[in-house]
Amino acid sequence: MSFGSIATWRMAHDGIVESLNSLEKGGTAGDAVESTIKVVEAYPYYKSVGYGGLPNIEGILQMDAAFMCGDTFKIGAVAGIEDVMHPISVARQLSHDKFNSFLVGEGATKYAMLNGFERRNMLTERAKKMWENRLAEMAEHNLSPYDGHDTIGVVSLDSHGSMSAGTSSSGLFMKKPGRVGDSPLSGSGFYVDSDVGGAAATGLGEDLMKGILSYEIVRKMEEGLSPQEACDQTVYPFHDKLTKRYGKAGAFSLVAMNNKGEWGVATNVEFTFSVGNDSEEAAIFIANMGENHTTVIEPITQEWLDAYEKRIKAPIK
Ligand code: ASP
Repeated sequence: MSFGSIATWRMAHDGIVESLNSLEKGGTAGDAVESTIKVVEAYPYYKSVGYGGLPNIEGILQMDAAFMCGDTFKIGAVAGIEDVMHPISVARQLSHDKFNSFLVGEGATKYAMLNGFERRNMLTERAKKMWENRLAEMAEHNLSPYDGHDTIGVVSLDSHGSMSAGTSSSGLFMKKPGRVGDSPLSGSGFYVDSDVGGAAATGLGEDLMKGILSYEIVRKMEEGLSPQEACDQTVYPFHDKLTKRYGKAGAFSLVAMNNKGEWGVATNVEFTFSVGNDSEEAAIFIANMGENHTTVIEPITQEWLDAYEKRIKAPIK
């Protein structure tokens, strides 16, 4: 049987490598999704997910996460959770509950506390400094506050034929308190059906939610499209629709894998992702929107990786 994992952004790569090792030994898709996301949530230099993530306008880090099992369609999600090390694990535990499986704000944080999830002040000094700098820049230059976001979204297939999907994000930098993005919303941020495949999203949540793109990609795969065809034929027509109505579409990128381990991506912005399966070793690629609703996918270069490493660790003044 095939197995595989695909995830948004370069930051997912180390987790993807680890998860493929365990999938090869018979590990489950659910564990692969959770463990991949936990690596990113714990790494302080990734400023858009978990520990080290950038806070909202009030300097408070509020996180969104979701988990879905493609065998049962069970979903667990949290939004605006605070001071919890692994929102994805809370979401996964909630997915087992028949009721109350999507909790927000204080309710989500309290649930995590009562159920023994690791607590931590998730706002690093580095993220706090970035927030202070951005406040000052916004006052001076009337800047749009909302850049500096990226969600980890993962889809995994295990050798037993089960699939899972998950997301975790600190959402938009400088968001309003209580703002929720697409990441914890079923169909928008993620969707998975073990009989078909799964998809996950990153990008401007307010625009992603308008299109329910993750669900739409899975639906198209069910109709027989390959993951790449499904991504291209979902993401670019929707990008065109938004452009027609608003003059401009927010940045967004989707990844997908079907239940054979075949994968696809589509994006309207430069986008990195990590993917591997039983026949392809885990690798990082860079994708861009091509002509006529296609995606140009290239292997990442060492030069790009070095520049990235330098950028995420650059001292903050
Ligand atoms: N989708 C996330 C949100 O809108 C942010 C991102 O993935 O860049 O909250």
